[in-house]
Amino acid sequence: MSNPESLLVDMDGVLADTMGGVFDLLDDDHAHEDVYDYWFDGLDKKSIIEALRSDGLYRHLDVITGAVRGVNRLREEFNGNVYVCSAPMSGAEHCETEKREWLEEHFDAEFAMQAIITADKTTVPGRLIIEDNPDVAGGMWRPVMFDQAWNRHVDYPRMYGWHDLQVVRDEYQRATR
Ligand SMILES: [Mg+2]
Repeated sequence: MSNPESLLVDMDGVLADTMGGVFDLLDDDHAHEDVYDYWFDGLDKKSIIEALRSDGLYRHLDVITGAVRGVNRLREEFNGNVYVCSAPMSGAEHCETEKREWLEEHFDAEFAMQAIITADKTTVPGRLIIEDNPDVAGGMWRPVMFDQAWNRHVDYPRMYGWHDLQVVRDEYQRATR
């Protein structure tokens, strides 16, 4: 389990390109920059939610560029005190299993098993969380925003991709209580 010193890492939109997977399924010509709202305001919400509940979606998502190298380096630097913290999609029973299988494929069995899949991230202990959800709040951790079109209106410390690890190290130090 994670602890108050842990580094937490969200999965959808941070490690896995969930929006890309949705666009592929819907076979439409939207691009990530069209999603300016985390809750899909201005888009066909119903089809998107349906796609997010499809069998196999979470199992086959693309890895966001650099995520495996970046996370593995942080795991080394933080002595393994790094945990995936991801919410399951409501109405998609296969979601948690698929997410763990995906993590095992791209990382390893231990990392997959230790992943925290929970609908309420505020109860998860940690010092910092790497997130793309602009509304994330209420936990003991501090957020670092993983830059996406849908979170540019919030002014948390921000990483612009997995090449951008220094902000994580800096914010982790800053979050020391
Ligand atoms: Mg996310």
